[in-house]
Amino acid sequence: MSAPKLTVVIPVYNEEATLAALFARLYPALDALHTAYEIIFINDGSRDKSAAILSQQFHVRSDVTRVILFNGNFGQHRAILAGFAHARGECIVTLDADLQNPPEDIPLLLAEFDKGYDYVGSIRRKRHDSWWRHVASRAMNRLRERITRIHMTDQGCMMRAYSRRIVDTINQCNEMNTFIPALAYSFAQNPTEVVIGHEERHAGESKYSLYSLIRLNFDLMTGFSVVPLQLFSMLGMLLSLGSAVLVVYLVVRRLFIGPEAEGVFTLFAITFFLLGIALFGIGILGEYIGRIYNEVRDRPRYLIAGILEHKSE
Ligand code: UDP
Ligand code: MG
Repeated sequence: MSAPKLTVVIPVYNEEATLAALFARLYPALDALHTAYEIIFINDGSRDKSAAILSQQFHVRSDVTRVILFNGNFGQHRAILAGFAHARGECIVTLDADLQNPPEDIPLLLAEFDKGYDYVGSIRRKRHDSWWRHVASRAMNRLRERITRIHMTDQGCMMRAYSRRIVDTINQCNEMNTFIPALAYSFAQNPTEVVIGHEERHAGESKYSLYSLIRLNFDLMTGFSVVPLQLFSMLGMLLSLGSAVLVVYLVVRRLFIGPEAEGVFTLFAITFFLLGIALFGIGILGEYIGRIYNEVRDRPRYLIAGILEHKSE
């Protein structure tokens, strides 16, 4: 196998129900491109038959297929990072295994690449997610864009294309919990976006709960920006200014009008409000400290049990 032009990286976690359909559409779509390509599947510690199905597929198409088998479940983004570390293509495309994004649309991404862009993001043409996901992801998108300055119309869509240079740069980063489209975007020189198709998940269930979506967004905010912390010092400044005014007012009032007892509950309300803000601030500090802790430990991001690939001489 000489160095291929295109590498497709696909993380797989408990996808036994979708893999056959994925193979049936992905391989013909890539063969039709008439360019040298490779597909890297990363089995992220699936507990179902995914690993067996992948190794079977490796034997069917060992000319273009490589399989990395993880020693446990390390999460979608670390799986993709392992794929990046082994990718050899000039252009690297990430794709989910669940067929929510049609593999037939890969040429759309490549076409932008040929125009000279080095990062091709994607926007789902028609979303088939539940309404709360729709509303929540829209609001988060806006907030994220303001805070991190990363422009992604549709952060939930993983089907994207990256240049060799971007992937090399990502390979030099040793980040533990990252969000690949955002990390890649921060290294892109000439990013663009295209609209691609979007379908229901072919089979199986989404691996993400509401909790992990909230986690992901915290990772995005605190991983790519310190604005939340800075906002906090701003807020702290404003509040202490406000309470200073309040104290002066109460002192003056006491001197001229006398002590007041009726206003006690107003003061309670203000105190609870300030307490809430202080707790939130401690929470945000915790987010950053947690990240620092993870980085400082410097543990391996993933463990590979084995790699199936054709020996190239
Ligand atoms: N995935 C993974 N490890 C995980 C969770 C998910 O490799 O711990 C893979 C999964 O197999 C799929 C992709 O990441 O190929 C996206 O997952 P999913 O479709 O469940 O996410 P959603 O589309 O619901 O955001
Ligand atoms: Mg999906």
